[in-house]
Amino acid sequence: MKNLKKIAVLALSAVMVLVCLAGCSKKEEAEYIIATDTTFAPFEFTDESGNFTGIDVDILAAIAQDQGFTYKLNSIGFDAAVTALESGQADGVIAGMSITEERQKKYDFSDAYFQSYQCMAVAADSDIKDFSGLKGKNVAAKKGTAGAEMAEGLKDKYSFKITYFDDSPMMYEAVKTGTAVACFEDAPVIAYGCAQGNGLKVVTDLKAAEAEGFKGSPYGFAVMKGENTELLAKFQAGLQNIISNGKMAEICSKYGVTYEG
Ligand code: GLN
Repeated sequence: MKNLKKIAVLALSAVMVLVCLAGCSKKEEAEYIIATDTTFAPFEFTDESGNFTGIDVDILAAIAQDQGFTYKLNSIGFDAAVTALESGQADGVIAGMSITEERQKKYDFSDAYFQSYQCMAVAADSDIKDFSGLKGKNVAAKKGTAGAEMAEGLKDKYSFKITYFDDSPMMYEAVKTGTAVACFEDAPVIAYGCAQGNGLKVVTDLKAAEAEGFKGSPYGFAVMKGENTELLAKFQAGLQNIISNGKMAEICSKYGVTYEG
């Protein structure tokens, strides 16, 4: 009798292990790896309770739910995210990534989901008002970004030097502490940061950028050109769904941002 009970318990355990294995392996089948920035509020950042959150984080979750796919979000920094995409360590990037003509040669983008442009910010107590105030000074830029590209494009004309940083908070810190007199950052991100009291102020607008030959460009989700077509198609379909059902506007307003389409 005792032995019979033992056998029954063993058999039951074996069945349970098999059921679990089957369930787990099924889940792992289509898990995409998506890379993102570390701190680029309100698009991705860690909130006061320690949760990784933001507009990009929420729209990816909403799109995945809408399209029924699973993913792992790796928060590694903008430049690192693009490198991960290029080396095949990530399937896609969502990181407030500007859709530029240059990038479109290498990556396939989803439709644009947020309008943006790059601007210059200085310390709140600085008297620098425009690019001409940068002469002979040091400027902070974030590696691999459209903001860095703008700084590089203006550097010779306005004779300044550039110091590069891996993330936005380090770049702002350099301006706040005076190791750099200005930085170049995306307008919606720096506006959010200034409103949160990051100690900086914006001194140039879209017109000032356009006068120097820089266009504003919106954000999109990127995959390598010709690869991950299924993921891009799902993102694209899900994006259209969350735009038309109002979820997109709801997500943006959660972060105090108006969705303008
Ligand atoms: N929008 C900018 C770019 O694509 C910056 C993105 C970021 O820093 N996360 O280069």
